[in-house]
Amino acid sequence: MNKKIWLSSPNMGGEELTYIHEAFDTNWIAPLGPHVNNFEKEVASYVGTTHAAALSSGTAAIHLALIILGVKAGDEVICQSFTFSASANPIVYQQAVPVFIDSEKETWNMDPVLLETAIKGRISKGKKPKAVIVVHLYGQPAKMDEITSICKHYDIPIIEDAAEALGSLYQNKMAGSFGQFGILSFNGNKIITTSGGGMLLSDNENYISEARFLATQARDDAPHYQHSHIGYNYRMSNVLAGIGLGQLKVLEKRVKQKNEIYRFYVKELSEIPGIHFQPELKNTKSNKWLTAVTIDAIHSGFSREDLRHILNKENIESRPLWKPMHLQPIFQSAPAYVNGTSEKLFQNGLCLPSDTNMNQEDFSRIHNIFKSLF
Ligand SMILES: *Cc1c(COP(=O)(O)O)cnc(C)c1O
Repeated sequence: MNKKIWLSSPNMGGEELTYIHEAFDTNWIAPLGPHVNNFEKEVASYVGTTHAAALSSGTAAIHLALIILGVKAGDEVICQSFTFSASANPIVYQQAVPVFIDSEKETWNMDPVLLETAIKGRISKGKKPKAVIVVHLYGQPAKMDEITSICKHYDIPIIEDAAEALGSLYQNKMAGSFGQFGILSFNGNKIITTSGGGMLLSDNENYISEARFLATQARDDAPHYQHSHIGYNYRMSNVLAGIGLGQLKVLEKRVKQKNEIYRFYVKELSEIPGIHFQPELKNTKSNKWLTAVTIDAIHSGFSREDLRHILNKENIESRPLWKPMHLQPIFQSAPAYVNGTSEKLFQNGLCLPSDTNMNQEDFSRIHNIFKSLF
């Protein structure tokens, strides 16, 4: 069997173990400690927010953002439909209702026109949305100018799901620094990883201290265990924050490598009729976490599934684009504002192996498969 080529696997930079050893040597083996504090500081300063809370996952970060924004049972929260389910699930943790918005064709992210239609529609039903969750899919920033100005106009806070977009730029500003909250994920498949983990970012100091309070079981200030709020166990371990500190040292290198992988595919595939890459908006710079293409079988002569199966037979992982949330069985009854874009992307779109661990031999294998195909 050929060596497996992954979509995106963990890639250690080399200094992670030094930080882990330091945590062991000082016995900071807890969901708090100096690595956690430093990891928060370094990530906040890299992204350009004044505050950050390191958490157990990106999902936990979205959940806490919703709680802090006061989302309660029966409230409505607007969410990009074309995303991973973790963007939307925390809305339901709060027993609130997700309202899904389809994508536009220029970034594959939330369509600002549909967003405004939805906000007006919900307000006319007496249900002003409590928050808007926008996603930067595969690293490509959404149309933040338009989305920010609409949300400002209707006075609705933005939660910016930058889980896939650490290191991406929108008009020279980092993804994750635009919303009232930004969220990051350090899951194993993301551009840098702590094996599992997340970060809540904000320029509002009160928001982040509330997040830290809620993430550590909401203990009141008392010598005994006293609680006036429901708390969560959502903090990041000091050991894992050590991995994060090591990974930060190679983040810029990983962004460069992901862009090289993207250029490899452009060179290989851009002449093939019917293949189109995820478009890039002017004034944005995607971290290219995953290279994503659509395949129009009428012009290319083969379908997305054809290519996926061919790669799979050679032990090479690729994956269809996200199945939109408004098409998921679990969200069938949720309101949705739809234009058909994400459904079509889901039918024809494929994420190509974008693993920074790929070596020259791996690229050659992929090249040879493409050569035999075309
Ligand atoms: C990975 C991911 C998340 C969730 O992050 P976890 O750390 O896995 O909980 C949320 N949103 C998007 C778009 C993601 O890709």
